[in-house]
Amino acid sequence: MKNKIWLSPPHMSGRELKYINEAFDSNWIAPLGPNVDGFENELANYVNISHAAALTSGTAALHLALIDLNVQAGDDVIVSSFTFSASVNPVKYLGATPVLIDSEYETWNMSPELLKIAIEDRIKTTGKTPKAIILVHLYGMPAKLDEIMTIANSYKIPVIEDAAEALGSKYMGKAVGSFGVMSIFSFNGNKIITGSGGGALLSDKEEYIKNSRFLATQARDAAPHYQHSQIGYNYRMSNIIAGICRGQLEVIDERVQQCRSNFEYYYNNLKDIKGIEFLKENEESYSNYWLTTITLDPRQNKGIDRHILSAALSKENIESRPLWKPMHLQPVFANCPKYVDGTSERLFNTGLCLPSGTDLSTEDKQRIMEIIHKTIIK
Ligand SMILES: *Cc1c(COP(=O)(O)O)cnc(C)c1O
Repeated sequence: MKNKIWLSPPHMSGRELKYINEAFDSNWIAPLGPNVDGFENELANYVNISHAAALTSGTAALHLALIDLNVQAGDDVIVSSFTFSASVNPVKYLGATPVLIDSEYETWNMSPELLKIAIEDRIKTTGKTPKAIILVHLYGMPAKLDEIMTIANSYKIPVIEDAAEALGSKYMGKAVGSFGVMSIFSFNGNKIITGSGGGALLSDKEEYIKNSRFLATQARDAAPHYQHSQIGYNYRMSNIIAGICRGQLEVIDERVQQCRSNFEYYYNNLKDIKGIEFLKENEESYSNYWLTTITLDPRQNKGIDRHILSAALSKENIESRPLWKPMHLQPVFANCPKYVDGTSERLFNTGLCLPSGTDLSTEDKQRIMEIIHKTIIK
């Protein structure tokens, strides 16, 4: 059996150990420490935002962002439906109501039209304006930020960008994660750069980041003993993880180039096959192409659908994945209010993520392409 090709494996740069060794040499293992401060500064600089809090995960970052915005039980929080469950779970942690919005077909992200309809309808039925919008940039593709921000601003609803998958992506030349009032990133093992785990919350508003750091360290009041006036969380990133993240952030631009060249390879070799469509940039957007994603129309390919293609790849020890199953189709969120038109359901039924590792070799790519061609063009 040939070597396994993973969908998106961790890819160390070799620079991580320098930071980890520094932490070991100074016995600054945990908690916090110079790597955490360094990583926060470097990440904030990279995204061009004033403040960052390094946390245990992207999920924790979303949870704290919602608390910063004073989201409470019974409040509405609008979320993209086509995403990973971590975008929605923190809304439920707070007893708030996720209001799920379907995608538009161009970027696969939140539909501005459905967003507007949802806001109007929720105001009419609940008498309250939704408390926040969690806007996802799926697979690294920037959402229609211009339209979404205009709508959000007109109702004065703060936007939290879930940029967990989109570090390095840009919209009109500006980093994704710098448009909303806050943004989150993830450094989980499968993301474009990783600390083995980890996340961050970013904002130009210092008070949000200060409050998040406070809550993330068990909400300890300033007192000589342990005193608490609020419920706290254990959400702070360790100095070791931050060291790995620093070594990874040094090569983020290289990683984005590697992901983009994966996309280019697939696109150039498959674009002429009828029934295959790619999620790709438009004039406003620059994607990190964290994962290259396609949809496959079986009616144009002799019945070959994403299941058959995925199985053919799997047989050759190559990992691929269906697109995210939309949240409004998940049993756990079945009762959430939703504003959908079938777009993300269609994407889920026909879509596949192709192997997109940043260490994918030319031989790996050729091996993948051979199987795709053999399966589809029989
Ligand atoms: C990975 C991911 C998250 C959660 O990040 P973790 O660090 O794994 O908690 C949130 N949203 C999206 C869209 C993600 O892909």
